Amino acid sequence: MSKQQHSRTNATIVSQYEEYVMPIWKSLDVPLERAEGCTVQDFDGEEYLDAFSGIAVTNVGHRNERVVEAAKDQLNEFVHGCSYVHPNGPVGALGERLAEVTPGGLRKSFFCNSGTEAVEGAIKLARKYTGSKEVIAVEMGFHGRTLGSLALTGNRAYKSGMAPTINNVSHIAPPYGYRCTTCDSDSCPGTCANNLKRVIDSHTSGDIAAVVVEPVMGEGGIIVPPEGWLARLKEVVEEHDALLIADEVQTGYGRTGEFWGVDHFEVTPDIVTQAKGIANGLPLGAFTATEEVANAFEAGDHLSTFGGNPVACAAALATIDELQDGVIDNAAEQGEWLPERLSELEAKYDVVGQTRGLGLMQGVELVDPSATGPQGIAPAPDADLAKHVGKNLRERGIIVGVGGFHTNVMRIQPPLTISREQLERVVDALDAAIAEEA
Ligand code: PMP
Repeated sequence: MSKQQHSRTNATIVSQYEEYVMPIWKSLDVPLERAEGCTVQDFDGEEYLDAFSGIAVTNVGHRNERVVEAAKDQLNEFVHGCSYVHPNGPVGALGERLAEVTPGGLRKSFFCNSGTEAVEGAIKLARKYTGSKEVIAVEMGFHGRTLGSLALTGNRAYKSGMAPTINNVSHIAPPYGYRCTTCDSDSCPGTCANNLKRVIDSHTSGDIAAVVVEPVMGEGGIIVPPEGWLARLKEVVEEHDALLIADEVQTGYGRTGEFWGVDHFEVTPDIVTQAKGIANGLPLGAFTATEEVANAFEAGDHLSTFGGNPVACAAALATIDELQDGVIDNAAEQGEWLPERLSELEAKYDVVGQTRGLGLMQGVELVDPSATGPQGIAPAPDADLAKHVGKNLRERGIIVGVGGFHTNVMRIQPPLTISREQLERVVDALDAAIAEEA
C-alpha cells in the first residue's frame, strides 16, 4: 500500500471531494474503502450493512468472486480495443446471452457504458426505425441526466437551469396509486393508462416513435404500476405503430425477484435498456431490440469508444451466471418476506404512509399525518423525516437510500444475495430509527 493510501481517512477523502470534485452531491456520509458481499467499510474502519447497493448496482454482492475472476481473466488478455472496431469474445458472447435472457423476441444488442447512454441510443433507434420523432415518457420517471434522457426524466428538480433538452417529448401521469390525481381509488385500477391516448391526441403530432417506461419506477419512489397498466400502454403503442421501450436499467438483472421487471406484467417490449446491475459495478450499459428494429441501424449510425468494454462484458457474463445460479431465487424469496415486515411498520407508525415494491426493490414512504399532500391527496410527504431516518440508520451501521419524487421514500435495494438475518437487521433498525425520529 502506498504512503498516500495509508494516510487516507474519511475526513481527508471528504475534504478532497470538497476541494477537487464538482459539488453535485447531496451527502458524503460513507466514504468507501472496501466492500464484500453486503458489507462495506469506510476509511476509519467502520462497517456498514449495505441495503442500497450503490444505487441498485451490486446485485450479486460486492466483489462477487466469480465476477472478479472473470474480470481479472479478461484484464490479463487485453483491456481495450474498441469493441466496434475489433470484434472480441466477451461482446459476442454477451450479445448471444442477452438474446437468450431478454424477454420476447429481442435479439440484437448495442453495448454502451451507462444507463443514460442506453436510453439515448434506444431513442435514436426507435426514431430511425419508425421514422417518427415523438417520444412519450411518464411524469416522475427517471431515465438519466444527459440531454436526451433528461427530457424523458419527469422531474423538474433534475432539469432546473439545464434547458433546453430535446424536443418532441411528452409525459403521461404516473401509476402512483398513493398520490393519484387521475382517479380517487386506493386500490388503483390503472385506468390512468388511458391517459396515454389523451396525451397523444392532445400534445403530439400523433406520429409516435416510442413510449419509454420503467416497469417499476425507481427514482420516482419505488412505484409499482397496477395490473393491466403496462399492457394497456402496449395496446395504445401498437395502435400507433410505435415502440415500447422498457427502461430496465434499475429493474433488470433480478432486482424485482424476476430477471426483468416486465416479467411481472406479461408484456413484451420492443427494446429493453439495461445498465446498473448488468456487470455488478463495472461500467456497462446496453439496449437490446428485436432483429427487425435493430436492423434499422446502419453502419455509422451509432458508436461508443468504450462501449462494450471487454472486461465489463466478461463481468456481465459472470453476473448473469450468478443470477441464474440462485441469486434471483434468493431475491424472490427475500422479496416475499420483506414486504410483509414492512407492512407491519405501515400499521405501527402513522408516519409510514405506504410501503410498496417488488422483490428487493422496496420503498417506505414517510409522511406528516398532520398535513395534507399536494393537491389535497394523501398525507404530506415528509422529506425531513426521511433524511433523519436515513442518517439514524447510518449511525446504526445500515445504508438505505432516500429518494422519490418528494424525497420522502426510504429505498431498500440491497445486493440480491442478502440473507434473511441481514434483512431482519435492516428492518429492525428501520423500525427503531422511525421510532426515534418521528
Ligand atoms: N434509467 C433508470 C430507470 C435509472 O434508474 C437510471 C439511474 N438511476 C438511469 C436510467 C440512468 O442510469 P445512469 O446513471 O447509469 O446513467
